[in-house]
Amino acid sequence: MPYRSPVTDYTFLLNHVVGYDRVCATEVFAEAGADIVEAILTEAGRMCDEVMAPLQRGGDLNPARLENGVLRTSPGFADGWKAISEGGWIGMSGNPEHGGMGLPMTVTTAVNEMMSGACLSLQLAPLMSQGQIEALEHHASDAIKELYLPKLISGEWSGTMNLTEPQAGSDVGALSSKAEPNGDGTYAVTGQKIFISWGDNDFCDNVCHLVLARLPDGVPGTKGISLFLVPRNLPDENGNAGVANSLKVVSLEHKMGLHGSPTCVMQYDGATGWLVGEEHGGMAAMFTMMNNARLGVGGQGVGVAEAAWQHALAYALERKQGKSASGTIVDHADVRRMLMSMKADVFAARAILMACAVAIDMGNATGSAEWKARAAFLTPIAKAFGTDTGISVSETGVQVHGGMGFIEETGAAQFYRDVRVTAIYEGTNGIQAMDLVARKMMDGGEAASRLLDEIEAHAEGARAQLPELAGPVWEASETLREATEWLVGQGDMTERFAGAVPYLRAFARVLGAHYHLAAALADKGGAREKLARFYINALLPEHDSLLVQARNGAGDLYALDLDELAA
Ligand SMILES: Cc1cc2nc3c(=O)[nH]c(=O)nc-3n(C[C@H](O)[C@H](O)[C@H](O)COP(=O)(O)OP(=O)(O)OC[C@H]3O[C@@H](n4cnc5c(N)ncnc54)[C@H](O)[C@@H]3O)c2cc1C
Repeated sequence: MPYRSPVTDYTFLLNHVVGYDRVCATEVFAEAGADIVEAILTEAGRMCDEVMAPLQRGGDLNPARLENGVLRTSPGFADGWKAISEGGWIGMSGNPEHGGMGLPMTVTTAVNEMMSGACLSLQLAPLMSQGQIEALEHHASDAIKELYLPKLISGEWSGTMNLTEPQAGSDVGALSSKAEPNGDGTYAVTGQKIFISWGDNDFCDNVCHLVLARLPDGVPGTKGISLFLVPRNLPDENGNAGVANSLKVVSLEHKMGLHGSPTCVMQYDGATGWLVGEEHGGMAAMFTMMNNARLGVGGQGVGVAEAAWQHALAYALERKQGKSASGTIVDHADVRRMLMSMKADVFAARAILMACAVAIDMGNATGSAEWKARAAFLTPIAKAFGTDTGISVSETGVQVHGGMGFIEETGAAQFYRDVRVTAIYEGTNGIQAMDLVARKMMDGGEAASRLLDEIEAHAEGARAQLPELAGPVWEASETLREATEWLVGQGDMTERFAGAVPYLRAFARVLGAHYHLAAALADKGGAREKLARFYINALLPEHDSLLVQARNGAGDLYALDLDELAA
């Protein structure tokens, strides 16, 4: 079955579940009303279904390759990029002053998710550009903005993000790339970066790299890092891509999946770059890009989960095996269990993603500290739960296919191979969970507590109509509140970190139940209420055991010494 973008699910979520009406009630986003958004999503959905989805398999079978130092992208990807650029899908949320559409992140997030479901490898390219656009809008000089933003937004040029080095992965502060002032306002950037997504392509006139490096007086660690814009081709006097800069793609990684996306080892040999933001302020500038990308990567997980779910359902509706009402496997109880879990989790993960995007838009439009704190709190949950859902749903999709799931021709395995990296890049999901229980709880748990207050008030309000669903949601929120208070009370961070991953997942489970409850209220007696019932009865209870793990502390983890661990 060909991929179909879930436009209807999005319009339902925006109108009935995540309170998008608050976004378009702000002055900034007044023009992005529900009808306009639906039209935009429909148009984007068409591009995803008709242009991007047909490229998915070809990208897997014909990976990007390096020929005599020239990068060749997978067949059709250049046309895909053209359709994405010409549709304006790169600069949806970009500043209209530079050619963007100024749309809310909520809309961009929805479109990005649909593009990911259609063809993840290709979608990673515009995602990188979007992060760069946002970082430049916030931190670059006016001259850089005027030259680069229109070209990045139009897709004439593309953007990348260069943090990782062999010895500096999660620990970005360990990087050793250097930048020396040239004396004319530019810098000479030298070093090697690994794992750089879309480090080059053969369809843009220029590729602009945002590179983290250390100035001669930069102190060790993250505080001494600065950010540089280093284009593949130096702009000429007319602002066009001119002579080649001193940088190159050394090699491409051979990966488990995501083959259509070239993952490059980059070498910079005194390449000319321009400072973005303050000297030694690179991490702050890069964080703008990383936060954008974290939400985007969460959406990648949800998008692939949607595609894997559609694929598995189509197979289950056709595969005849054993005795069942319809004669196909879709009526076997265990297959139903898999399909219902997939559908219910896709909805929960998508709702969390959209709620996070709404909070970002509300923070930007109103400047409210409370909305900003909500956005910051939800970002690691949206990233980690979105990508974990991508992995679990696509893995279940393989199982629904039985033996054919293990055979590449069906395409079921590709979803799993492609999406696996989303839990690793943009900060591993372990790092996301640590961020949640440390930095995002520096407020003493206030942002968490406000969210739980809202969940409980909503459940209270739902008791009269759906008591058997509202009750468990309220109780789950209370258990989560107790665990949150316990975590906040742990002064020793190792105690918090030991339970961070199960805590994040438990929080996502409860949030998912909250949004399913909202969907049930909006569709009483309908399919959404039935799906919510399954989620709350069958999947929500997982939060209890997760919170037991979250509160177990670090003692048992370190009980074995290294010899005993290895024995
Ligand atoms: C396909 C692909 C594309 C990528 N694209 C880009 C890109 O475009 N730009 C870019 O800069 N990078 C990119 N990356 C790099 C990616 O962001 C890193 O791989 C990731 O941040 C993890 O770093 P690492 O691989 O060095 O793992 P490590 O940091 O070595 O981590 C190994 C394990 O240890 C855990 N760990 C590490 N430190 C801690 C800690 N302090 N506490 C608890 N656990 C910890 C991790 O969670 C992980 O489970 C890409 C990677 C891949 C595979």
